[in-house]
Amino acid sequence: MSGVCPECGGTLKFDPSRKRYVCQSCGLSLSREEIDEIRYKDQKLNEEEEKERVRKEYLKWWATKK
Ligand SMILES: [Zn+2]
Repeated sequence: MSGVCPECGGTLKFDPSRKRYVCQSCGLSLSREEIDEIRYKDQKLNEEEEKERVRKEYLKWWATKK
């Protein structure tokens, strides 16, 4: 499994000797748990943005209704 670095967007590569994922661009190293945590936070953030977007759409619709 490989992933994307949360810091710079580089490629994360698993280092079996350290049992950590290491970014090929900036050298950031993360454990599996840390990666999962970051993904979870990102997902939450996206959900919030989606809610905000829907609310704005609704307000726009409401404003043009009259
Ligand atoms: Zn990086």
